[in-house]
Amino acid sequence: MTFSIPFDNTFAQLDPLFYTKLAPEPVDAPKLRAFNRDLAHLLNISEGDSAEMAQAFGGNQLPTGADPLAQLYSGHQFGTYNPQLGDGRAILMGEVVGTDGIRRDIQLKGSGRTPYSRQGDGRAWLGPVLREYVVSEAMHALGVPTTRALAVVETGETVWRERGFPGAVLTRVAQSHLRVGSFQIFAVRGETEALKSLTQYAIDRHYPDAQGPMGLLKAVRDRQVALIAAWMGVGFIHGVMNTDNCTISGETIDYGPCAFMDEFHPNQVFSSIDRMGRYAYGNQPQIIVWNLAQLATALLQQMDAPEDAVEEATEIVHAMPDLLHAAWRETFRAKIGLATKEDGDEALITSLLDRMAQGQADFTNSFRALSDGAARDQFTDPEAFDTWEMDWRARLAREEDPDATMRAANPVFIPRNHRVEEMIAAAVAGDFSLFERMNRVLATPYDRQDADMDLARPPADSEVVNATFCGT
Ligand code: AMP
Ligand code: MG
Repeated sequence: MTFSIPFDNTFAQLDPLFYTKLAPEPVDAPKLRAFNRDLAHLLNISEGDSAEMAQAFGGNQLPTGADPLAQLYSGHQFGTYNPQLGDGRAILMGEVVGTDGIRRDIQLKGSGRTPYSRQGDGRAWLGPVLREYVVSEAMHALGVPTTRALAVVETGETVWRERGFPGAVLTRVAQSHLRVGSFQIFAVRGETEALKSLTQYAIDRHYPDAQGPMGLLKAVRDRQVALIAAWMGVGFIHGVMNTDNCTISGETIDYGPCAFMDEFHPNQVFSSIDRMGRYAYGNQPQIIVWNLAQLATALLQQMDAPEDAVEEATEIVHAMPDLLHAAWRETFRAKIGLATKEDGDEALITSLLDRMAQGQADFTNSFRALSDGAARDQFTDPEAFDTWEMDWRARLAREEDPDATMRAANPVFIPRNHRVEEMIAAAVAGDFSLFERMNRVLATPYDRQDADMDLARPPADSEVVNATFCGT
């Protein structure tokens, strides 16, 4: 079979205000290290031989129909507005419509310098590329909306960070790469016509039923509510919830310093650059409201009757905390086996989480053990669990099949940080077997896989990863 991508590009037809057209920079010696066949099927991409795909996904050979460009955007980084960001090391190759009828972007990340690179080299190294591949595909399998990973190419070049590392390019797939920052840049510049046309594009592409800018705002709000509840439910900490990393589609994007928690603590932070804990686990539901307020502010710049619109936008944003709270409660209700609703459920959830935080319980394994094993053993103070368990069992008596509810809500496997680090170290030394095994096991994370239970084990004290780095 010959390699082909059925490109059908729409963003490249928009006004050049929104992007700079340019091709990826070729790399020395592209070698295909991963290709996601299931995803390729979904995207109607036919597989070619490995050398041919390495040329395409490394950026050396433009596939027929590609119309490569770097997108322009801005954003608030840690609360401070940066008036111009943009794809500094990514190239949008074009779009395809999948077998599910959904349009998606195909983007190369680590593909060389662009007009938006600022001081950066436009490149990525193998570690963060493999991390994004494993974690984003695991998120997908966990049922969390996310960008996905189609391919990894090693470039044969050295990328300099603290030292030299093997270079790599990730092929990322997203329902689009539009973000809050894509709107902010034109709002701040007062370019109302551009803002209007981008808003219409986003509505047509993502929310065809939405009515005008405020309809878009509401639709994004609802998707982000579902997204953050899903993150909370799997113990995911994004780490850089800047407005340029917050999608209009409601997909998780930008797996930089992200991590899954081992031991539960609401203040958990991994990112080495997040010194104030702005993006800590427990802050994520507040930060998303702040991000949505920035989108509201941006979208308002195009409204004809601003007073009415301000009131509507305010209502949309102000409703978000309650919606988040409700979505969070539903997520955690399922995690403790409750398919029906009763008044005391939230108290039961928070009481368990408090005990987990105090008892240094492993988030993933404690929840899974509620149905599968000795949950009390997960706590440094098992008696604290016992008292909770009595109340919980009394509540469970009014549920039909709580074990089934829990097994569908509590994964056995998450991409554990210490394993991700081990996987990267092995791959840098040329051994991709753990990368491949993690992808295989994490494809069905809710199933017990007896031969791979080592991947479910929390880190020993000596293995704990305390910080993740943006040095991507
Ligand atoms: P991120 O932290 O990945 O969301 O990136 C924030 C901004 O920095 C975006 O505009 C990126 O394109 C840019 N950027 C990150 N890394 C690099 C790099 N190595 N070279 C050029 N630009 C980069
Ligand atoms: Mg980003």
